[in-house]
Amino acid sequence: MKLLNKLICTILATALCFCAVGCEGAVNTANSTKTNGFKLHMIDVGQGDSLLLECDGSYMLVDAGETDKGNKVVEYLKSQNVSKLSYAVITHPHSDHFGGMKKVLQSIPTDNIVMTEAYHTTRAWESLIDYIDKENFNVVFPKTNDVFNVGSCQVNVYSPDIDNDNKNNCSLVLRAVYDNMAVLLTGDAEESEENKILENGFNVQADVLKLGHHGSSTSTSSKFLEKVNPSLALISCGKNNDYGHPHKETISKLKKYNIPAMRTDLDKTVVVSLCNNKITTLANGKEQTISKSGGANTSLSSETNSADSSQHRYIGNKNSRVFHLSNCKSINKMSDKNKVYFDNREQAAESGYSPCGDCKP
Ligand SMILES: [Zn+2]
Ligand SMILES: [Zn+2]
Repeated sequence: MKLLNKLICTILATALCFCAVGCEGAVNTANSTKTNGFKLHMIDVGQGDSLLLECDGSYMLVDAGETDKGNKVVEYLKSQNVSKLSYAVITHPHSDHFGGMKKVLQSIPTDNIVMTEAYHTTRAWESLIDYIDKENFNVVFPKTNDVFNVGSCQVNVYSPDIDNDNKNNCSLVLRAVYDNMAVLLTGDAEESEENKILENGFNVQADVLKLGHHGSSTSTSSKFLEKVNPSLALISCGKNNDYGHPHKETISKLKKYNIPAMRTDLDKTVVVSLCNNKITTLANGKEQTISKSGGANTSLSSETNSADSSQHRYIGNKNSRVFHLSNCKSINKMSDKNKVYFDNREQAAESGYSPCGDCKP
């Protein structure tokens, strides 16, 4: 514990030094020119998660599977000509997510590590933290609504409260928006984290949803699924895994909502391309076009550079605790980090916000 505490303190100190640099560095990558759209690769790592976001020649890796899958992830990255990762994200301290990350960091130059502040006392976790610390990586502990740019794709991160009793619910949740389309990656978030995300007014609408916790019945509540309203569900899990993932309740829920699913246990590695309002998948050499469901309307306001403001009718100011209509003049003056989004007046009122006297929401 002593060693771990020391490491955590060092990591926190490193993060404080580098956070601003890390975030600004991210903004600079947006200068690259738009080329071949946006791709999400769900790499088959058996029972675990490893997802690669690719846009305009920039890359973000989200998790890297179990320790024995590190080589496989590295090989895959090399096969895709990934010479550098702008970001390596570690969603939470479970080995089916972080296990292979050390191998990746040893093999592929990485600009920034984005991770949760949750910790674990396993040897594998301590060894990874030790390595990150020793090699002086830029470490970013994101705050909710922090935006990272992967080429012209904007990635919003939802950073939950740390609950070390349930590490799944410490999962960083990422919503990547590109060309009016969005994908949502929820790590191993279970229903209670999903509920918190909804309560906090975080925009979850997405065309593609990587289901939480490998399709477990403890994740992907109906309420959450309805809000996300995806046209395609992705499930990362091992063939005949010990946990029975994905659970049959989750599969029947997807059927009920008529959402097609692709899974690594059946389809192996799946590559999803989002371009011109079209979703195409490639798995086992077979290409498919997925028809978009009507509700996943994820228009992005480029003028305000805010991925969320155009989708919520009400925006609150965390400082003044006042909420506004999304077209109120005062929104322009509000800094992004103070914004909180509501779908309706009730939600704003329940969160303790009062209506603006000007726009009278
Ligand atoms: Zn997991
Ligand atoms: Zn987990």
